[in-house]
Amino acid sequence: MEELSRRLKTVASFVPQGARLLDVGSDHAYLPLYLMAKGQISFAIAGEVVAGPYQSALAHVSSSAFAKSIEVRLADGLSAMTPADEIDTIVIAGMGGRLISRILGNGCAGLEQVQRLILQPNNSEDEVRSWLQQNGYVLIAEAILEESGKFYEILVAEAGQHGLSDKELRFGPFLSQEKSDVFQARWLKEKAKLEQALSQIPDSKIKERQVLEERILAIKEVLDESE
Ligand code: SAM
Repeated sequence: MEELSRRLKTVASFVPQGARLLDVGSDHAYLPLYLMAKGQISFAIAGEVVAGPYQSALAHVSSSAFAKSIEVRLADGLSAMTPADEIDTIVIAGMGGRLISRILGNGCAGLEQVQRLILQPNNSEDEVRSWLQQNGYVLIAEAILEESGKFYEILVAEAGQHGLSDKELRFGPFLSQEKSDVFQARWLKEKAKLEQALSQIPDSKIKERQVLEERILAIKEVLDESE
């Protein structure tokens, strides 16, 4: 089996011992296979909506020792599971934040019995945090890492209520507290991009400049750079 990416290993580290897992968008079923090989999960559904990746997941699982404990299903989002599956943990990784929010929003029977959501949006993390907040979930952990020149955030949520500020929605309540080196590198890079964009906007376009200036200021504040 291929070595799992550091991104997916970090996602895997948040899966509880003995979990019954649904991995949504499980193109090669790498994550369920890795977790099963480690003895970390008891059952998994590898859900895929596209035929090619579904076939690939099926081939990987069929040729593994875990064909009985991992079911590969061709299905859209959470409709891959039913209440009878008793899924308690859902992973949705490697997709845009808007798509992740849409998949969760489409819901399905059985979501109430799920205890933990582990989400790794490739972008629009703030939209995912907003969705969680508006739908009765509280973040219990966050992680950020850099791999192959890209930054990835991982959001872990369970049922609960909280009121995140705009700053926390954008930067993450845990990540902005912790301010790890990777977090700082990510937002310094974003700030440089925004400053470059701002330098291209003529002074006459006041509104456009203001939007960028506010976003740059928010980054400076979270990085403790504002004077
Ligand atoms: N989860 C893996 C990872 O993190 O490496 C695969 C990420 S891959 C970029 C995204 C996968 O999600 C694709 O195989 C795509 O077909 C699948 N996908 C997209 N929308 C989906 C949906 N609504 N339901 C199930 N799978 C979906």
